[in-house]
Amino acid sequence: VTSSRENCLGGDCPHHKQCFVLEARKKALEADIVVVNHHLFFADVWLRDEGVAELLPACNTVIFDEAHQLPETAGLFFGETISTGQLLELARDARLEAVQSCKDYAALPEAALKLDKTTRDLRLIFAEDGGRWPLDKVRDRKGFEAAFIAASSALDELVAHLESQAQRAPGLESCWQRSRELAAAFEKWQAPLPAECVRWVEAFSQALTFNTTPLSVADVFKKQIEGSARAWIFTSATLSVKGDFAHYRKQLGLLDAPSASWESPFDYDRQAMLYSPLNMPEPNTPGYTQAVVKAALPVIAASQGRAFLLFTSLRAMREAHSLLLEAFERDSLPYPVLLQGEQSRTELLERFRTLGNAVLLGSQSFWEGVDVKGEALSLVVIDKLPFAPPDDPVLSARINQINEAGGNAFMEYQLPHAVITLKQGAGRLIRDEADRGVLMICDPRLIGKPYGRRIWQSLPPMRRSRVEAEVLAFFAAEPLADLQAGRASPELQE
Ligand code: SF4
Repeated sequence: VTSSRENCLGGDCPHHKQCFVLEARKKALEADIVVVNHHLFFADVWLRDEGVAELLPACNTVIFDEAHQLPETAGLFFGETISTGQLLELARDARLEAVQSCKDYAALPEAALKLDKTTRDLRLIFAEDGGRWPLDKVRDRKGFEAAFIAASSALDELVAHLESQAQRAPGLESCWQRSRELAAAFEKWQAPLPAECVRWVEAFSQALTFNTTPLSVADVFKKQIEGSARAWIFTSATLSVKGDFAHYRKQLGLLDAPSASWESPFDYDRQAMLYSPLNMPEPNTPGYTQAVVKAALPVIAASQGRAFLLFTSLRAMREAHSLLLEAFERDSLPYPVLLQGEQSRTELLERFRTLGNAVLLGSQSFWEGVDVKGEALSLVVIDKLPFAPPDDPVLSARINQINEAGGNAFMEYQLPHAVITLKQGAGRLIRDEADRGVLMICDPRLIGKPYGRRIWQSLPPMRRSRVEAEVLAFFAAEPLADLQAGRASPELQE
């Protein structure tokens, strides 16, 4: 059951009095403390700004946990997105309403069917299961313009038919309003691009989205903050890069905000080790994933499974999966191997915890919000430094904007962003005072590039090593002081 702005009939609904959604909203408006996710917070901001409704009570303090995600989420809400899913839902609802409330008007279900067909045809222009492209690349695709115009005209026709029947039932009236809003959004999408925004298309397995995203949410976010007398608190373990909050502040326009870091309760030097293996090839060379698996195998054996292997691409994750299965069979290693996508994230994590010696391979979506305390997770292997792909339409527009303004997009944006993502991945390892573990970062740029130092210095202050024997000894619980760990790794000294 879902209730959205699009399908809720509000005051016209016959179940209005017993509705549990409205009841929950009423309770939220009366509460002293409301706990919501970031999306709901921004949905409330958006609805207030539009003068449509209020979901949350007025408050004097807003605390954002996991605040490193805010720039991304705010970008979604302060930008505009239309999905082909919305068109298909509208077509479906219009057909249902036609059956219920205007059986004598055959033109309506026909128009809805036409919208359904043209929308599906538009999706079929993209053979890919997923991907993000800037608008100019999409326009070059054969058939895109014609399919887009066909879907957009089918929507306009449906608007006209719905308008002619809207008086006959609240459901028809609601469909008409939705269709008008969607048609207006489509028209806006074709209008000249607003300043400092990027237009792009994303394909999912069943849908397309058409997006206009602001390159920076700093101004709009700042306006929100200045527009209300409230205390705003942003917390996360990963807001700063080497203790410096400038990147985060700039993203949200919080230039004067006081900031502070507190020491972690964990004794990283004793509990954890950062391992950067020697002799790794450059990350974009063929055979890189093989090298990652080869370097990781002895460490996985030493940690007796209990490992996350995190990859920056799904392709690398799948390749590593088959290599690992082969190697485990060849070397008779008994560790169960779990792969992202085989089951839901919750089920996979539950199995990982229960098995106690499993190896789980995942991609970016496993980097955050995963909590495995204790012995089940003792090793996190990260294949490459997580630089976002520069061909991503939003990122590439941001990079151009910074560079054109005379800045250095790599140092000001891409690097801090990668550091924050990497800290999230690293944060999976030590979740408790009793946890022990090794973070293995295979990417040789961590040591070989001048910016590598800035990255590892931003990570928690773990013991560092480039020597496999030291890592194996860590797992064998030999006293590391005796091994004088780190002596053989001058590149990793402060
Ligand atoms: S008011 Fe009616 S349509 Fe809206 S959420 Fe409640 S039951 Fe659903």
